[in-house]
Amino acid sequence: MWTFLKIIRLNRATVRSLNPLPRGWTVVLRRSCSSASSESRVTNPSILRHLTSKITATGAITVAEYMREVLTNPVSGYYVKNDMLGADGDFITSPEISQIFGELVGIWCVSEWVASGKPKVLQLVELGPGRGSLIGDILRVFHQLQSVLHGAEVSVHLVEVSPKLSQLQAQCLAGEYTCGGEDELVYRTGTTHTGLPIYWYRSVKDVPRGFSIFLAHEFFDALPIHKFQRTEKGWREVMVDIHPEEPDKLRFVLFPTPTLASTTLIHEDEKRQHLEISPEGGVIVQKLASQIAEDGGAALIADYGHDGTKMDTFRGFRGHKLHDVLEAPGTADLTADVDFSYLRRMAGDAVVCMGPITQRAFLKNMGIDARLQVLLRSCHDATTRAQLIHGCDMLTSPEKMGSRFQFFSLLAPSPPLPVAGFSELGL
Ligand code: SAH
Repeated sequence: MWTFLKIIRLNRATVRSLNPLPRGWTVVLRRSCSSASSESRVTNPSILRHLTSKITATGAITVAEYMREVLTNPVSGYYVKNDMLGADGDFITSPEISQIFGELVGIWCVSEWVASGKPKVLQLVELGPGRGSLIGDILRVFHQLQSVLHGAEVSVHLVEVSPKLSQLQAQCLAGEYTCGGEDELVYRTGTTHTGLPIYWYRSVKDVPRGFSIFLAHEFFDALPIHKFQRTEKGWREVMVDIHPEEPDKLRFVLFPTPTLASTTLIHEDEKRQHLEISPEGGVIVQKLASQIAEDGGAALIADYGHDGTKMDTFRGFRGHKLHDVLEAPGTADLTADVDFSYLRRMAGDAVVCMGPITQRAFLKNMGIDARLQVLLRSCHDATTRAQLIHGCDMLTSPEKMGSRFQFFSLLAPSPPLPVAGFSELGL
């Protein structure tokens, strides 16, 4: 691993400047290719109109349905219409903050591939790649570690629901690409700047079978959640309804009787009073787990979250500030902390789960300090040096992104131990 850390060279073009703060703490953090600013983004009346007519026709909707409509409605969804990342957007993420983040994740991928006996085929799959910065940094690592990956047939698979972001990813990552039809499972194909085949899908279930390393960074937090409250009569689901006195405003209500979700999703041992569950996240983890168990591979899920302890984390972000989740739907990001205890339960026994451990622990275990020193030794420009140092501090400091963000992994049964990132690296 130490050798890998030394081989990867500094790429000045990818040193990011650090204006905005990350999401996940008070003034929130995410990342920086560019488009419409949140200030210039107008209120999206079509989503509100769509939601109020739907509620008028069929009654209050679940929080999951609200979130799905607001974020991924094919016509006017927040993710479908906007580039929300970076200084001009609503939040910034770790891969946007420093190239070192993606490099260390790239080294983790190579290390898992080596630990799995260097299978001939290696599919690199990212869920929700945003602007493509993480996969871009990883592909640079793969290119520089060609001698290690020699002989492997590497392909890149991106699962992205947003036409706008997938276009941005194609521009950043692919030398050339072609678009498929609306109904095709693979809606875009191309060749990366480093000569690898790259494919785009709307759903992870369309990614081909085979040995795969799956990556999901700040993806699971964007998936729709159901919200529940414990009452004297048992669990009841929180719904979104039209405000009785203001017909163009929405409000939360508690459904008076059990719903399908409240009777099927809650574990009998649950101790919390309020609960947020993303069945969509559960189904995706089940798919990753069964593919990893049958074809080999691993998944690395990094997000802000908890291990089954938190209760009310559903929130909105607009222009790097907290935003009322029911206010001006479609103009702000909606998110909820990932419940890793739920993902572990959904993954089942066919795979081994590691973590969650803090981002700080994972990056330190992967050698971030050594990597920073290697980069600083080859960099004499004061501004770039300061950005590198500041970026690492932002990623690892417990008061910044170091403890709030967690790493969780699914591995094929009986993985060779220790697993990179989840235990201390012997340099
Ligand atoms: N991983 C990136 C971007 C995180 S934002 C980073 O960390 O910088 C969430 C990403 O997931 C966006 O690319 C968004 O368009 C995508 N996304 C959200 N919901 C999705 C869904 N249901 N299916 C596929 N992609 C989704």
